[in-house]
Amino acid sequence: MSFTNQEKFVDSPRRWALRGDLLDFTAAPRWGDTEPPAVRFDRDHWLLIEDGRIVGRQAAEPDAGWARKDHAGKLVLPGFIDTHVHCPQLEVIGSYGTELLDWLKRYTFPSECTFADPARSRAGAEVFLDALLASGTTSAVVFPTVHKVSAEALFDSAAARGMRLITGKVLMDRHAPDGLRDDVVQAEKDCVDLIARFHGRDRLAYAVTVRFAPTSTPEQLAMAGALCRADASLYMQTHVAENRAEVAWVAELFPDARSYLDVYERVGLVHERSVLAHGIYLDPHDRVVIADRGAQVAHCPSSNLFLGSGLFDWPGAAFNISLASDVGGGTTLSLPRNMLDAYKVQALRGERMTAWVALHAATRGAAEALQLGREIGGLSVGQTADICVWDWAQGPVAEARDAVARELHERVFAWMTLADERNLAACYVAGQQRI
Ligand SMILES: [Zn+2]
Repeated sequence: MSFTNQEKFVDSPRRWALRGDLLDFTAAPRWGDTEPPAVRFDRDHWLLIEDGRIVGRQAAEPDAGWARKDHAGKLVLPGFIDTHVHCPQLEVIGSYGTELLDWLKRYTFPSECTFADPARSRAGAEVFLDALLASGTTSAVVFPTVHKVSAEALFDSAAARGMRLITGKVLMDRHAPDGLRDDVVQAEKDCVDLIARFHGRDRLAYAVTVRFAPTSTPEQLAMAGALCRADASLYMQTHVAENRAEVAWVAELFPDARSYLDVYERVGLVHERSVLAHGIYLDPHDRVVIADRGAQVAHCPSSNLFLGSGLFDWPGAAFNISLASDVGGGTTLSLPRNMLDAYKVQALRGERMTAWVALHAATRGAAEALQLGREIGGLSVGQTADICVWDWAQGPVAEARDAVARELHERVFAWMTLADERNLAACYVAGQQRI
């Protein structure tokens, strides 16, 4: 199955130049440092783009051989990378009154059941990816549903948009309603087929996708680990230690495991391409394991606040941390909104997070943790031209605030606090304008 909606996209010329205030990172900013050398800010500069890649970054206006997009006075950032988000949960966003396990049963599982229908999967994927782009997110690590067709729809729709997408059929063979369970043999066949067809094609990559420990039998977890061991280029995504009741349930289901994380670790699911969502209730040993393996935690502040899951210890972590929306537990696809929520989570813990730490986690930090740092997450020569252009301020309140900002961090922090998808002026994916 293949489908595109290319007709709505504006083709950019082969060689073109973009003007604006360029902001990205050359390294990870230190916690609490508002003026780190890792920040690279070039006011009123030009990016030169050829065949979808950045080939120049300069102050001087390019010669007449370059077509141009003049975004003077606007903020130019790398496209955001959302490292944990659920395509089929777009419609359960903002569902009232529950914690994680009840929320799955009441809202999420019924919605996910409908993705057995290929037409529904395809329409859901297209709406979802267009919504990501409209939020300034050009790359994502995504959960579809247990249905093979839901992963196919996401891969095909992302390829049609030129997006970098990491996903894989969800594995769940127990503790889920009828219509949302697979079995080990069929699930393995489906994974092998999807890997062969999509992993490494265009900008797509496959993630062995375990929903979470309670919904997979030990046999299925072992199969998932074997897939990862057989091909080190595969990603792995799952949830870990999000909620106290969930952690207690995992301890009951896996009495031999040292911890929740250990359920994954002992079968080979924790490695340098593992994306572990949440990680609120990790113990000190878990933290060392994640750091040693080079895995990352996708921090989901909007979801953690909305579902009342808990407060993630960011400054205490020595492992890679990326930023994620976790829609529909999260209440917005906008990563600036999630940066603000991340700031509030730390404020409740008595800590203060700089705009640099937040922005880095949504761009270069996520790219490095996904082993894609040469490709995405920055505005350097050689990287793919996944670029978003933002209004520094939208509306009278933000304009008044922006007008009095003096230091760069002050200005960017106010932007992060007040911006959302309405600030997005343009979005380019591999050099093609999508918004
Ligand atoms: Zn999630």
